[in-house]
Amino acid sequence: MKKCGFVTIMGRPNVGKSTLLNGLLNIHLAITTDKAGTTRNSIEGIYQDDESQIVFIDTPGIHKPIHKLGNVLNKTAYLNMNQADIILFMIDAKTGFGKGDQFILNKIKETEDVPVFLLLNKVDKIEKETLFKTIDKATKDFTFQEVIPISALEKDGLDDLVKTLKKYLPDSDPIFEDDALTNVSTKFIMAEFVREKAMQLTREEVPHAITCYVENYKETDDLIKVQVLIVVDRLPLKKIIIGKNGSMLKKIGTSARYEMEKFMGKKVYLETYVKVIENWKEEEKYLKEFGFENE
Ligand code: GDP
Ligand code: MG
Repeated sequence: MKKCGFVTIMGRPNVGKSTLLNGLLNIHLAITTDKAGTTRNSIEGIYQDDESQIVFIDTPGIHKPIHKLGNVLNKTAYLNMNQADIILFMIDAKTGFGKGDQFILNKIKETEDVPVFLLLNKVDKIEKETLFKTIDKATKDFTFQEVIPISALEKDGLDDLVKTLKKYLPDSDPIFEDDALTNVSTKFIMAEFVREKAMQLTREEVPHAITCYVENYKETDDLIKVQVLIVVDRLPLKKIIIGKNGSMLKKIGTSARYEMEKFMGKKVYLETYVKVIENWKEEEKYLKEFGFENE
């Protein structure tokens, strides 16, 4: 018997949810950037040790939907919340507890009998006093089972977090194989690496207008050949992504390939190209094709 269960990470965009998932698993599974709205699918990462199997679910941050993609993302986040054994409600200790956080907390309140932990992230950036003030504000009208300050980036407090989670999780026979890691496919992760680099390396207007998709994937013992299509919603962005004489696309490709090789432990041959599809964010058929959950 092990401690087994599902733990959903909730919180505003940019508080550090994906960074926490990566920190817990010690790999780069979920892409992270300093731009809001990076995570678009629920990514499950399975933490395993001798006594536990804990499925952490990284959710797209909840926000006001402005297009169909936004609706799909919110629905995904709420769905995950209701299926969890434990909810981790993460806030950014540096920016404090604000309206956006309150909005999500109100949604969390609607779930019944699920323990909720308050995670104060980015404590590497703040003073103790600020921390206490934020805790006071966040706990004013809700009682959390646990309140835990962490730094996801510096992996500070993560061992304690796992230890505490084990206290709350039910005993059961293992649910997964002991080498199971995630619900998402290798192809998905490859496309995500390209999107991460494109988002990190380009200017503000690009991030939300872009999606990436693996068109061809061939794996042999010592080499992976992969073609990734970068889709943007207007021509000027295609020009930005490609850059002068293809320099930006080359940069994106080189750094994405580096992540792929690290993740897969073998050589990767990566080809990228860019295409304009004007309203991919509104069109059901494209949302499906690009892998967004959508019932
Ligand atoms: P998400 O939108 O909630 O998934 O947030 P991300 O995981 O993508 O992180 C957003 C930004 O915050 C990235 O630039 C991270 O490097 C940064 N970040 C995350 N955790 C920490 C932390 O503990 N300390 C600091 N200083 N930065 C962090
Ligand atoms: Mg994220």
